[in-house]
Amino acid sequence: MILDGKHISQTIRAEIREEVLMLKAKGLRAPKLAVVIVGHNPASETYVANKIKACEEVGIVSERIALEADITEGQLLEEVKRLNNDPSVDGFIVQLPLPEHISETTIMSAIDYRKDVDGLTPENVGRTVQGLPSLVSATPRGIRELLSRYKIQTEGKHVVVIGRSNIVGKPIAMLLMQRPYLSLPGMSAASLGDATVTVCHSKTRDLAAICRTADIIIVAAGSPKLLTADMVKEGATVIDVGINRIEDPSAPRGYKLVGDVDFENVAPKAAFITPVPGGVGPMTIVSLLQNTLQAYLGN
Ligand code: NAD
Repeated sequence: MILDGKHISQTIRAEIREEVLMLKAKGLRAPKLAVVIVGHNPASETYVANKIKACEEVGIVSERIALEADITEGQLLEEVKRLNNDPSVDGFIVQLPLPEHISETTIMSAIDYRKDVDGLTPENVGRTVQGLPSLVSATPRGIRELLSRYKIQTEGKHVVVIGRSNIVGKPIAMLLMQRPYLSLPGMSAASLGDATVTVCHSKTRDLAAICRTADIIIVAAGSPKLLTADMVKEGATVIDVGINRIEDPSAPRGYKLVGDVDFENVAPKAAFITPVPGGVGPMTIVSLLQNTLQAYLGN
């Protein structure tokens, strides 16, 4: 069965739209997201435009704050401080990557964790690790939501995560190994957490053998066809986070997007599998909207 992230994300968008309408009907203001973009990186411009558009669709107020690439770290810190203290802004993100002369760690650490809707501040990550209410970074939150909406239980399951990045691998491993009662708000349906999690990375030996023991495999490596059919147990669930551009002369843009899974051959063995595109990607954007609403509601 295909885990249809596109469809689920549309359902969630409709739910958020409803909730914002209800807030407004009560005379309350709408939630507001600010997005800071530094310089003119074309990929970042596209991501930011998509985030602003997604906000508009659900009635979340958004503001794009564009700063020149030669801004100093101090000036950017001032902007972060201003947004931390602006009561009309519920959440904000500083789009990465930043120009080389600015330390991403310094900037991320300066963001008030209650407004950190990207879930990347050390404080939010630490709170997630301890099972305290926190804003979880968008992709792990989206994966958790997708599993939950399809009622895929994780309790006692062996989950193999391939990739150990701060934005995907580490946080999703943390979320799925947690005791559910310590989990974060917004969870429902399936009992998520309580899994036995193995995290694999580029130095892992015999990845194939480890994957064959998995009930659920989450691949976030950025390597096309890394996960092949011989690595997957019959009936496993496969979540493909990877986004890779590969040349395709027949495609209008000369390339197509593929994940990290050899989808064609893995899909027949998997009980559940996410496609690329249309799986985890749309869930990531909707998670940002959910985080903004969560920040607004203060939980
Ligand atoms: P990253 O690019 O920072 O690091 C890749 C990780 O994969 C590393 O931890 C590395 O050790 C591991 N890895 C690489 N090759 C491996 C191999 N052959 N065997 C085992 N492990 C291997 O990770 P990231 O930022 O999480 O991105 C991973 C992929 O997910 C990229 O394709 C990225 O574009 C995509 N991504 C997608 C979304 C989404 O919304 N769908 C969000 C974030 C990232």
